[in-house]
Parts: sequence; C-alpha cells; structure tokens
Amino acid sequence: MVPVLSNDLLLSAAHQFDTPLYVYDESCIKHQFELLQKTFYRNNASIFYACKALTNVNILRIIQKLGGGIDCVSINEVKLALMAGFGAEKIIFTPNSVGLDEYIEAVEYKININIDNLSLLEAFGNHFGSSYPVIVRLNPHIMAGGNLKISTGHVDSKFGISIEQIDDIKNIVLKTGVDIKGLHIHTGSEIKDIEVYIKGLELVLDICKNFSNLTIIDLGGGFKVPYKIDEQGTDMITLGVKVAEALAKYEALSKRSFNLWFEPGKFLVSQCGYFLVKANILKHSPSRSFVGVNSGFNHLIRPMFYDAYHQITNISHPEGSLNTYNVVGNICETDTFAWDRELNEVRPNDILLFSNAGAYGFEMSSRFNSRARPAEVLVSNGDLKLIRKRETFDDLLQNVVL
Ligand SMILES: *Cc1c(COP(=O)(O)O)cnc(C)c1O
Repeated sequence: MVPVLSNDLLLSAAHQFDTPLYVYDESCIKHQFELLQKTFYRNNASIFYACKALTNVNILRIIQKLGGGIDCVSINEVKLALMAGFGAEKIIFTPNSVGLDEYIEAVEYKININIDNLSLLEAFGNHFGSSYPVIVRLNPHIMAGGNLKISTGHVDSKFGISIEQIDDIKNIVLKTGVDIKGLHIHTGSEIKDIEVYIKGLELVLDICKNFSNLTIIDLGGGFKVPYKIDEQGTDMITLGVKVAEALAKYEALSKRSFNLWFEPGKFLVSQCGYFLVKANILKHSPSRSFVGVNSGFNHLIRPMFYDAYHQITNISHPEGSLNTYNVVGNICETDTFAWDRELNEVRPNDILLFSNAGAYGFEMSSRFNSRARPAEVLVSNGDLKLIRKRETFDDLLQNVVL
C-alpha cells in the first residue's frame, strides 16, 4: 500500500503554513521508488525520474539520494538536476522542438542525450560526428494513454522519429558517423495496459538489428496510478515479469544484452502529494450547490486541462452529512475542480484536501488573475519543512519594468 499522511497532520500543515498549500511525503516517494526497483529487479533496470512532474530541488535530492537518475526536458531542468547532485551519467536530456544550441549546451554538461527528430540528428551528427553517442527517440505508432493530450506515441504525435523512418536514421549514421547508443520510446501517460509496454518493447527490439553499438533500451514512463477510489493502476508485478520475459527471449536469440531504462514521473510523486485549499463561500442556486475555494486552475490545472479526477475530502468536517457540490475555483473563467461531488457538509473555512496532487500540480501552476503561486511543504520523518515560500505581490512585479 502507498503510505498516506493523516488528516490531522495535513490540517496542522494548513494551519501552520496557510492555504492553498502543496504537501509532499518523502516516505511515499521512497516507497514508490523502491517499488519500481523491485518491479524491474530481474533486469536491474535504471530508474530516471521524469522531473517535469515536480521539480522542487528538495524532491530531486530525495531521488538522487535513493540512487535514481533523472530525465530532463529542458536545460533548466538539467541545471536543477545538477544542483540536486545528480552525476552527468545519471541525467538524460529528452527535449523536443529545441535547436542544436540546446544540445550543444547539453554536451558541455556531458549528460545522456536523446534526439527525437531526423533533421536534428543530422545536424548533431554533422557537428559532433561519432564523438558523442546519443539515444534516439522513436515514435512506435501506438495509441495509448489517459487521453489524447497525454498520448505521445501515436502516428500523428509530434514526438519521436517514426518507426517507418529507420532507413533515414541509418543514412544519417552513414553520412555523419553519429553513434547511436540507445533506443527510446515514451508512449504516453496513464498507461494501464501492460500489452502497450510489451508491444513497444518488441517493436524496439525488432529495430535493434539495425544498430550495432546499442547498449540502452529506454521504455519511458507513463505508469498509471489510481485516481478514483475503485480504479486500478498499472499492474506492476505482471509488468516486471513480462518485460523480463520478452527481453530474455530476445537476448537469448540475438546474443546481445541491453541496459533497461525507465523514466517514470507520475508514478514516483503523484500519490505522494496533497493539495489543501480553504472553502471561501457556499452558494446554493436553484439547481445546485457550489463550494468556492481559495484557489483555482491557476494552481491545479489538471481537472480543467485533462478532465482529470482528483479525490476531494473535507478534512475539517469528516463526520458531516453527505451533500453534492460543484467544487469551483476563484479564477474569472469557468474554473471547476469537480462536478456533482459528494462531500461531507462543507462550511466556510473548512479545509478541503485534493489527493494525488504531487505530479503536474504545482509544476503546471501559473499566476493567472495575478494570484500568487502556493507554498510547498515536505513531510520527512514526521517533520514539516517549508520547501518553497508562498509567492507575494512583490514576486508578481519581479521582472516588470516600472
Ligand atoms: C513526461 C515524460 C515522462 C513521464 O511521464 P509520466 O506519465 O509522468 O510517467 C517520461 N518520459 C518522457 C520523455 C516524458 O516527456
């Protein structure tokens, strides 16, 4: 079971640090990391945390101390990773739609580089020749993921080099001498179906024959965590077994062996994060009841952006009778966290808890409506530690030329 923080502790965090507030649980992140190591122990797989899910350096340090690697999609994420103490060999740079200049900077940091389009592979090869081996991101033409916005491996996705363009990759290798040390796919987020991973792995293995210097197969991230109470996440035990079987079968036939890499984001931090808000107003219109809270999609965009479901609990009034509410934010636009949601009776100033808010929560927050971003708190060994201060009005003016 994933460890959970008690409502008492979360309430005291809300009182001590005020709301809206993100709270993360270190022991939960460790639990998830160790679960992944166990899942893929047969292959001794390397886990690279896809840090765009949650980049606070204090969180990165937890993963670093556990021995994990890190997957970065921008040079600034790389800088955060270096700041958190990751060695260059533990960092993968997996951007898309960036220019050669960003890759040149990445080479200066000596980190692993993942290239996801032909023209850049060629430009990179022309610039570096065989001196800097790279990983290539393939588009496996597999439709998978929680919804289209987070599906990244289908035929119309902007990500990766199509598996039908392997000959083009080989031509670039011939022409420029660029050395390909690994193949990568990341098919999407919230992938429950294990067959998607196995099919992806088999596709990649089939392509291996085209490249003789390969040492790495990187299957990306995307493991699903349950958001609703009765929902199932990816069956990790079965996944671990099936991946090991497929790889062993190939390795026996081909007499080659590979290092297996994964890049989970959500799986490592989502269930380890909580978002706390305060009920400001109750409005009972003829058709429904609204709870208006002191936050909005500027702080947690997943419900509005992905139609995501977050469990919400009234931790101030757990014994209150059940009523149905629309939980809405304070942004001047349709801003709904939940429709027709049963909650224990909500009174003004009650603290509402959003679960599963560790991934793509704070990280996707903005200052829309000139509202400052929330604070972040880390719970470790029972202690509450502020790891990001709440923004102030002065922060909003920071780069404005007055
Ligand atoms: C976002 C991303 C991930 C992580 O996806 P999750 O669904 O959070 O596990 C992994 N690899 C790459 C390249 C990504 O862009």
